[in-house]
Amino acid sequence: MSNQELKQRGEKYLMNTYGRLPITMVKGKGCKIYDADGKEYLDFVAGIAVNALGHCHPAIVEAIQKQAARLLHCSNLYWIENQIELAQLLVENSCFDKAFFCNSGAEANEGAIKLARKYAESKGRNDSYEIITMENSFHGRTLATLTATGQEKVRKGFGVLPQGFKYVPLNDIEAMRAAVSSKTCAIMLEPVQGEGGVIPAEAQYLRDLRQLCDKLGILLIFDEVQVGLGRTGKLFAYQHSGVEPDALTLAKALGGGVPIGALLAKEEASVFVPGEHATTFGGNPLVTAAGIAFINTMLSQDICAQAVKTSNYMREKLLALKPQFPCIKEVRGLGWLLGLALDKPGAKAVAGCLEKGLLINCTADTVLRFVPPLVVSYDEVDKAIAILQEVFTEKDY
Ligand code: PLP
Repeated sequence: MSNQELKQRGEKYLMNTYGRLPITMVKGKGCKIYDADGKEYLDFVAGIAVNALGHCHPAIVEAIQKQAARLLHCSNLYWIENQIELAQLLVENSCFDKAFFCNSGAEANEGAIKLARKYAESKGRNDSYEIITMENSFHGRTLATLTATGQEKVRKGFGVLPQGFKYVPLNDIEAMRAAVSSKTCAIMLEPVQGEGGVIPAEAQYLRDLRQLCDKLGILLIFDEVQVGLGRTGKLFAYQHSGVEPDALTLAKALGGGVPIGALLAKEEASVFVPGEHATTFGGNPLVTAAGIAFINTMLSQDICAQAVKTSNYMREKLLALKPQFPCIKEVRGLGWLLGLALDKPGAKAVAGCLEKGLLINCTADTVLRFVPPLVVSYDEVDKAIAILQEVFTEKDY
């Protein structure tokens, strides 16, 4: 079926939840992806920071194929070998002690929210249920996580929302000091805001938050669903500032493309007991096989080091575009979560790049976001920059 036919069929049968571009992707290899009409694209979206090793990386494909032929699913009523191994890999390569597996970023954050409330309760602070998050943040689309999300447009239209969330501006420690109270059980934030427009938290701010949480005996939670697992050039984004949160959430890249999320926590914060939190599919043999292959490949091939080099190269190229196009306000981000902030909406640029075979997307209306596979090459960066330059010129940016 063609792109056009698939679009019509999709409109008939799917709920209208995405403003989709009129193409259907049917196969991919490395940083290239192909639509139903056979057109090739250079993929600087990568499933929105999911395909960190590129499309159909042989290690991920092999792990999935082997596991699919052995055991696809088994209940968490029993121990799951791959799940234990993936937990061990995550724990041994981070500051955390325990892992819980689920199926998405929102679910990982739901788990973190419950954990923070349970932690307060375990300390005898039954009235401490409030979580302070950041304005412009994004934490997911379930009722609790959309309420945690500091964007009115995400929360609007869903009636009575769960209680216990408060928002403060990012990087403003005084606002945070004024917001915390005896009701607070946690502070939750993204080390770099992704959906909010690629805005990094400052290292000093993170250090101040750590101090504040320690003083109050509340949890510091990092949402690394988008920025974790090598995206910023380190395996975890918290490693840039050295500020260790009590809990951290992951998803997106973790399964190399299969749906898996994780909540990691320090021993002291790992307060769930049987019956308090669970999910049928969480950490099943198939997705954790993919997760193991993903982490092992990231580590054995030092993909983070590669990501630092190529993302620095891209940053320099983007900075070099700035004097040519006055619409560019700022180049920002960390590692391969790069944002090009414009003084006008980015939708025309996204459409122009698509026409010329480059996938990018736009967050917060005016920020072009570049989150390619971490294995992207210098040549591919050059190609992306050349297309962007043409599009800016032709579309009057
Ligand atoms: N948290 C952050 C920082 C995200 O960027 C996202 C998704 O974009 C989520 C949570 C939600 O993850 P999911 O879409 O897997 O539920």
